[in-house]
Formats: sequence, structure tokens, C-alpha cells
Amino acid sequence: MEIIKYPHPALRWKSSPVTAIDAKLRKNVREMFELMYEAKGIGLAANQVALPLRFFVLNLTSDPAESAEEIVFINPEITRRKGTQEAEEGCLSLPNVYGDVRRANEIVVEAFGLDGQGFELTVDELASRAIQHETDHLDGVLFTDRMTDAARREVDPMLSDFDELFRRQQEQGKYPSDEEIKQQLQAMAP
Ligand code: ZN
Repeated sequence: MEIIKYPHPALRWKSSPVTAIDAKLRKNVREMFELMYEAKGIGLAANQVALPLRFFVLNLTSDPAESAEEIVFINPEITRRKGTQEAEEGCLSLPNVYGDVRRANEIVVEAFGLDGQGFELTVDELASRAIQHETDHLDGVLFTDRMTDAARREVDPMLSDFDELFRRQQEQGKYPSDEEIKQQLQAMAP
């Protein structure tokens, strides 16, 4: 398992709901937390490790010692959005790309935990921003899609560089073609 980078097609995949909370899912969740901590992130969505499933992991402290702060969101739904906030965001699938994104300030999110229990959270500021960013991933939406125009213009050249790198990696055989990757994702969906 690795964190895939833009423009890997899994990042544009609309993921399928999780249908079973089993040992495989628990193992994936654990590995995703490890990768997230290594990369010093605060959230990681299944799409970002090329899994076409609707779940993400979050630890706003980014500190593996603070494991009590870990939250797993399975089949999350944002059911309410209130107010707006604008702040700089980054993404582990677009290293070193940062830009301002406008988001709802307060949200209500419903999801299931690894114990299979449903829960509901009302959050604002960073937690709200991170949950909106990660939920977007599950729909194949990237934060660059939501950047302000000025921010987007600034990062466009970097996106082109990521594009070139990925195409080169495909030519070298590190990744299959977009078409093959899409077939693999389709085959993995429940
Ligand atoms: Zn991201």
C-alpha cells in the first residue's frame, strides 16, 4: 500500500459504500494510519491508497502517540453545512501544493466507526475542513477543484509537473495505463 499521487485515476474515482467491517478493512485502516503519520498528514482517504471504498481516517494531531484522537469514518455523509471559512489546504496526494479553499464552517457528519456503530459529529474550523476534504476524496473531488481562482492559477504549473511525472512513471511500467487502473478499481468495488 502506498499513497498515490495526482493524477492517479483512483483520485477521480467515485467510491462504493463499505458493505462489511471485517479483518481486511481493519488491516487497511491500520496501514492507512501508518502511512498518514509517516507523511505527517491529518487525514487519508481510501482513494488515496487506490481503494475504491467510502472510508477515511483522521487524526487532527498528526501524532501517532495521540491514538485516542484517531477517528475512522466509514460511509460518511455530511448532512448539514453552515457558514463559510476560507483557509489554506494541502493534500498528501499533491505534496507541496497549497492553496486557499472556501468551505462550510460548521458541518454535521454521520458515519460508522470500525465497531460498526453509527455516530454523528458537529464540528467546525479545522475538523470541519478536514472532514470535507476527505469526504470529497471519496467522490473523486480534489481540493484543487475547489481552490479560489487566484490560488488555482498559482498551482497550475505544479499540477502539470505532477501530470508529466505520472505519465513518465506509466511509460516506465511503475503504474499501468489509466484504463487498466480503472478496470482494477472496478473489479475491487463490492
Ligand atoms: Zn487530500
